[in-house]
Amino acid sequence: MPDRNPGFSTLAVHAGAQPDPATGARITPIYQTTAYVFNDADHAAALFGLKQFGNIYTRIMNPTQAVLEERVAALEGGTAALAVASGHAAQMLVFHTIMQPGDNFVAAKKLYGGSINQFGHAFKSFDWQVRWADTADPESFEAEIDGRTRAIFIESLANPGGTFVDIAAIAEVARKHGLPLIVDNTMATPYLLRPLEHGADIVVHSATKFLGGHGNSMGGIIVDGGTFDWSKSGNYPALSKPRTEYGGVVLHQAFGNFAFAIACRVLGLRDLGPAIAPMNAFLILTGIETLPLRMQRHCDNALKVATWLKQHPKVAWVNYAGLDSDPNHALQQRYSPKGAGAVFTFGVRGGYVAGKALVEGLQLFSHLANIGDTRSLVIHPASTTHAQLTEAQQIAAGAGPDVVRLSIGIEDAADIIADLEQSLAKV
Ligand SMILES: *Cc1c(COP(=O)(O)O)cnc(C)c1O
Repeated sequence: MPDRNPGFSTLAVHAGAQPDPATGARITPIYQTTAYVFNDADHAAALFGLKQFGNIYTRIMNPTQAVLEERVAALEGGTAALAVASGHAAQMLVFHTIMQPGDNFVAAKKLYGGSINQFGHAFKSFDWQVRWADTADPESFEAEIDGRTRAIFIESLANPGGTFVDIAAIAEVARKHGLPLIVDNTMATPYLLRPLEHGADIVVHSATKFLGGHGNSMGGIIVDGGTFDWSKSGNYPALSKPRTEYGGVVLHQAFGNFAFAIACRVLGLRDLGPAIAPMNAFLILTGIETLPLRMQRHCDNALKVATWLKQHPKVAWVNYAGLDSDPNHALQQRYSPKGAGAVFTFGVRGGYVAGKALVEGLQLFSHLANIGDTRSLVIHPASTTHAQLTEAQQIAAGAGPDVVRLSIGIEDAADIIADLEQSLAKV
């Protein structure tokens, strides 16, 4: 790359990549290999002892994956990154690096449903406790913190409703209590918002969604902000105490401001194993090249669709932060002035039956449980993802009987609106 500070779109195409040194291939190859030949026995020993960087085994690192990691670190403004098999794997490795049995963390109540399950159920068997707080009230995070609290976790743009969060206010609570702030930036992507600029210490992604962007591959990313002091409190022994399996190295001492990314790789990924497939790293890398173009189109289309729905007589309400009238609009303008994202909810008059009928009548939209595809997607949470809850629980989760969730694609806005129009006409 030229010798100047490149802009976001240039980084999206170039960061981390160069023509393949072995073949000259311009596109980063899919390094479909499990292992890598050592130069000699000393080289092998140096790699295993963390004395030298290099490839050993694709469960721990892979050259295609490495380009993806460098690119996302550049886009988020972090010091290093680790790519893994899925967004949930990224979250698991982050907490595995931070938590000991009996520790707790405070998380936003408004999260992707899968994260609520992971934190509330799976993490229990590691004896990691989650405590819930309300992002609209940063003090509610403070109230949950005690001597065993090790982190705060939020989404920058919360999944079900598309709500922007005052990241700086929550970062201040984290800083005051000496805790790292972890931000899931899946829905916003670094094109709209970079949490590290607002006081986050670690960013996680489901790359399955907008980063990959085409609904064709699972992946997750952890970005190390390089900002947190892992040694100060003594509460993060994975980073601040000698590792016997690596000849007594102290990771924070040895790797400084990218020690967290290293720890997630050489402890969590090595031992728990959720490696990303090289093919998926390649597909996500290719997707990222058009991230700025796609995200802007997603946002522009979503604003047009939300504005149109808002005036429709069969629509009771629209929850989209991009609308001037939305209570979340001021936060959106402050944190994400380029747009309010692609995902939002609205209510159809007629409740459960009408919501279900609307989804069934759509022809361009795909009815499925995903977001962040080039295609427009729809789901009726009350009859699918939230069907096991009581009506009161559904309403509390923002998934009441009338709620329809859209993930607006990059098709022509007129065609997306026409599809909603024909289906609403039949409701
Ligand atoms: C999908 C999603 C996840 C989980 O990611 P997977 O890649 O499905 O494991 C986490 N957070 C958010 C906001 C998501 O949308």
